[in-house]
Amino acid sequence: MGRYLWLLLLPLFLFGSSVKTFKWNNGESFLHFLEHKKLPLSLYYSMDKEDQKLTEDIPFSATCQMLISNKKIIEQILIPVNDELQLQIYLTKKKKYHIRIIPIVAEMYHEVLYTEIKTAPYDDILKSTGSKNLASTFVKMFKGRVNFKKDIKPGDPLVIVYNQQYRLGKYFSMPEVSGAMMEISGKRYAVYKHTDGRYYDAKGAQYEKFLFKLPIRNARITSRFTKRRYHPVLHRYRAHVGVDFGARPGTQILATGDGRVCFCGYSNGYGKTIKIRHSNGLTSLYAHQKGFKAGIHMGSKIKQGELIGYVGSTGLSSGPHLHFGMYDGSTPINPLSVMKKKTEGFTGKEYRQFVAIRSKLDKIFNEKMKTKPVRHKLVDFQNTYYVDKDTFKAKVF
Ligand SMILES: [Zn+2]
Repeated sequence: MGRYLWLLLLPLFLFGSSVKTFKWNNGESFLHFLEHKKLPLSLYYSMDKEDQKLTEDIPFSATCQMLISNKKIIEQILIPVNDELQLQIYLTKKKKYHIRIIPIVAEMYHEVLYTEIKTAPYDDILKSTGSKNLASTFVKMFKGRVNFKKDIKPGDPLVIVYNQQYRLGKYFSMPEVSGAMMEISGKRYAVYKHTDGRYYDAKGAQYEKFLFKLPIRNARITSRFTKRRYHPVLHRYRAHVGVDFGARPGTQILATGDGRVCFCGYSNGYGKTIKIRHSNGLTSLYAHQKGFKAGIHMGSKIKQGELIGYVGSTGLSSGPHLHFGMYDGSTPINPLSVMKKKTEGFTGKEYRQFVAIRSKLDKIFNEKMKTKPVRHKLVDFQNTYYVDKDTFKAKVF
């Protein structure tokens, strides 16, 4: 490994380039960023609408990388737009800047955490894994079901079964929890992720206390949520971090859940947009509106199903529709995975599927309770790297 690493680093030593990491500024517009770095604004205008819109979803405080030559020339910048795709600005041999969207190289690992509570679940999960995201995901899952302050006693066990992405040896993106359980004074509370992406208790009842409703009556979905899609004709990567509903201009847009308006205004890509922050920590977004309901403003208190605005085609939109987004912090999630299901309980094939998932997870829970494994600490890798222009492969610097 050492020998290969040396070969990798050689050209960088020769040319004296260096990699700097920086955090994406909260709320910074992409155009402002280019201006600030003295990069041509034409980079933004050369992108198509869909890609321009993606620049508005760059997560707050996203970790970005910049490769700079010894003459202080920016050779490359990498900005993650979600956990699968990143923007790459790079200097060509002809000394011109280009921009494109490329996949983020990450590895997925399946992990199981067993721990006993010493102080509080959040602190104990953080201590044993170092992952704030895993700790907060777990707490969110059981919030409203378990009283974390009152019910839990030291020594109560918890198990989490999840997939975690790593980028160059470090946690990357939100963990995907497939099941979790806690035993409080001998009573088990378990959550299972079904094939529909929703969480259920052992009886197959939808687990989340806080469930959303569709923002359009008689909704017709025209484009679904995807973090990464390869366009076979255009030969490029795409993402659509929301759900589009086709509807006539002027169709009523209804709040998906109770909450408070945290944005009400115009953005380049999304046009007239409202964002609502909900009590479970998620934020919903309603874009391309024709207009808002009179009287709505920042801070307005909203009830589920309340009229907030009207379908339009403002911003970078190809026709009247509602782009509906859902965010956990600044991470986009599939809005349909947190919608209330019309029917309660499983039947037939779906029931059999659920039983299979449940018994598989129960088996893991029980095994971990018996063996009580000690989780070994992760090795700390360096986190600065750049991407090879031709292979897309990440290279450690
Ligand atoms: Zn959309």
